[in-house]
Amino acid sequence: MPYEGEKASRLGHVETVKNEAVKAALQRWTIASARPSGKASISELCLPLGELPLVGNIDEVDFSITVDGSDTEVDTTRDHPTVKVGYLRVAGSVVRLDVFRQLSRVKHIDPREVRKSHSEYAFDVALPGSQLTRPGMSGVETWRTELEDFLHNSRFDSSTEMTLADGLLALHGTRGNAATSINLRVCPACGQKANAKFTLAAGKEGGSCPSCHARLYLADILRTHEEYNVEGSNFTPLGRVMTVAERLMSICYLNFFADTAPEVLQHTLFITDGPLALFGPLAPLKRRFEEHLGDLSTWCLKRDLVAPLVVGIEKSGAFVEHAELIKDLIPPGHVMRLTNAYINKISGRPENNHYGVDEFYGRRFIYRTRTGDPLVITVLPAAGLSPYDGGSPEVEGWEAYPTLRLICEILDSLRTRMYQHAVVPIALAHSAAALPLGVGRSVLTMMAQQNIPGLKPDLQAVQPPTYFKG
Ligand SMILES: [Zn+2]
Repeated sequence: MPYEGEKASRLGHVETVKNEAVKAALQRWTIASARPSGKASISELCLPLGELPLVGNIDEVDFSITVDGSDTEVDTTRDHPTVKVGYLRVAGSVVRLDVFRQLSRVKHIDPREVRKSHSEYAFDVALPGSQLTRPGMSGVETWRTELEDFLHNSRFDSSTEMTLADGLLALHGTRGNAATSINLRVCPACGQKANAKFTLAAGKEGGSCPSCHARLYLADILRTHEEYNVEGSNFTPLGRVMTVAERLMSICYLNFFADTAPEVLQHTLFITDGPLALFGPLAPLKRRFEEHLGDLSTWCLKRDLVAPLVVGIEKSGAFVEHAELIKDLIPPGHVMRLTNAYINKISGRPENNHYGVDEFYGRRFIYRTRTGDPLVITVLPAAGLSPYDGGSPEVEGWEAYPTLRLICEILDSLRTRMYQHAVVPIALAHSAAALPLGVGRSVLTMMAQQNIPGLKPDLQAVQPPTYFKG
């Protein structure tokens, strides 16, 4: 917009120059993620599903639990349009896969049958945007306090007392042995770094910095306060909170079943929205996920359980775009490995770059379903392996991903006429994440109703919304 008194835009001439400059630039550059010219470079990375190592049995996988979230920033009042409140909702949804497989074979789907075959539970939280503070606190202190309250107050399912804070402690411990406190690297108040002689720890009741005596919170391990913006949008840290809440919800379900009815793990596919990776300030937590899930895999192996079955499915992003671009080079029913060399080539990274090492706790593959859609998925490696490990041949091979084939087979079986371009559990979870406030059933209660021995959610904890009564 021109300044007052200005005759014409000072940048008016820029448009022409920009067009020329952009045109010339595009002639110099090529898009890194463009389709490779030779078909061979892709074929050699693909394998038909039937040739992958098989563990487990698709007929035994009866449930899927999908976790999905939605986040938004809303204006507080018309008088203060720059003051925003962050709002997020995370939903877990369970689907009875046997019912869906039958539905995929019938001509007319009865919506009541669909309704009976799934249930969902969601929790919501509002987090303070910039310029919103609790009395006597700064913006960033308010953010940290509110986030701590959120972790302590959000039960991962309406039929348990276990909260996301418990999930965070479980994540920092081993199977059946949750951590009682978490060590922080830096004091969020004074910035002092922890070392051998100076420990910063927060337990369930919090902690205090030995140097500045400021309160420390469990939530501080998430480091979202580092991205808190005192002036402007806080959509970035809000998105981090959503990711971590989703991942903790999955960890809570996995631990709940391992504690109460371990066989359920073999019968349930856990679906995460997005890749099995954590970015930005959350990235250091990837090691915790890798170790915790690796430990759970070992524990399941000892009990002859094919579990945990965990998959991340991406709905958008560079890899989804790339998969769409090359899909006709992958035969239907084939899986494509994405080697370090291939990823570096299509993403314009240097050849010696070690992709994903610091972020991923699963490995990404492209699966072209039998109906022809490309799915970008991440699956867990065998226990004890780190999925990107600097491009070592072992973690780039098929054998390192024992659950890959079974997971692809399950995803294949979940396509119905009703949801042509989506994997059913994801479509349902996505709608659950967008439900109006107050609708929260229970994933665990529905699963318990299927007569699973040992699975007894704490029904005392269930408080149905008042409008469900009478
Ligand atoms: Zn301090």
